[in-house]
Amino acid sequence: MNYKNYYDILGVPKNAPEKDIKSSYRKLARKWHPDANPDNPRQAEEKFKDIQEAYEVLGDPEKRRKYDVLGSNWQQAAQQAEQQRRYRTAQGETAFDFGDLGGADGASGFSDFFDMFFSGVGRRQSAGPTRGFAQRGQDLETTIDLTLRDIFNGGKKAVSLQIEDVCPTCGGTGTRGGSLCPQCHGTGRLLKNKRFDVTIPRGVREGQRIRLAGQGGSGVSGGPNGDLYLIVRLTDDPTYKRRGDDLFVDLTVSVYDLVLGGDVNVPTLTGQVRMTIPPGTQNNRTLRLSGKGMPKARNGGTGDQYVRLVGQLPQNLTEKEKKLYKELAALRNGKP
Ligand SMILES: [Zn+2]
Repeated sequence: MNYKNYYDILGVPKNAPEKDIKSSYRKLARKWHPDANPDNPRQAEEKFKDIQEAYEVLGDPEKRRKYDVLGSNWQQAAQQAEQQRRYRTAQGETAFDFGDLGGADGASGFSDFFDMFFSGVGRRQSAGPTRGFAQRGQDLETTIDLTLRDIFNGGKKAVSLQIEDVCPTCGGTGTRGGSLCPQCHGTGRLLKNKRFDVTIPRGVREGQRIRLAGQGGSGVSGGPNGDLYLIVRLTDDPTYKRRGDDLFVDLTVSVYDLVLGGDVNVPTLTGQVRMTIPPGTQNNRTLRLSGKGMPKARNGGTGDQYVRLVGQLPQNLTEKEKKLYKELAALRNGKP
């Protein structure tokens, strides 16, 4: 990513008054308008876009002030912004992607440089605090990884989560005392690790949100905090697959259990249970253990557990076993 010198682009000195910036912008925009440059439309379009971008920043006192204090520290801010972008991507948010595409335009249609400092990408509501007015903090959203057992048991769980919040040093403005905020390097946002005691509703489904009231972004000027929403993500379980409120498990059984029937031990979330396999059961047949699934979050009750019987053929047969199998085969085929 390259530093954009907006003053150079508009051809004005750093201390230019607002009206000069405006008139220079108008002049240049007319000059480089693509319609006015049919001979070199591509170059004109590039120029025109740069001019618009420069004016978007320098023509806005708030943005101009921020831009002025970035100075030579802008690369630190870029790093910070990149870290936050990765975080947002990890949270599944659609994030703008500066850098990776070699200067492709970001969410605003302006350059990546612009997006990094001036666009509110990934924010649920504007982070720009109105000075002097109490403002409610942002609602934040992040994922929480839960095991099947966490969800089965429900109840309290202490988790450490990385959340993104307004920088406490600058209050989200990115500047402090006329210079770049030393803590967030101008982005106005900070990632922080925080511990929470989360009450997990029994049977909560994947993708559902758990709300932690008042645990979101900090309020500004005495405003209340926002809420924190945790989106449930189920970690893979080595034994069970969950579908809705039902559980699915594969159980390896001997071919004799399938052919002759028998009782087998089946793991469930409440411990082993005995299950009867009827004689003459086909391989891969699924049996149901009623009420052995997940608790139902909405209406109470419990789902079922489905057990797929995976028959295992005996290997490394002894001579005697081979002989007996041959006899069985002959019997099956109606030979004496
Ligand atoms: Zn800050």
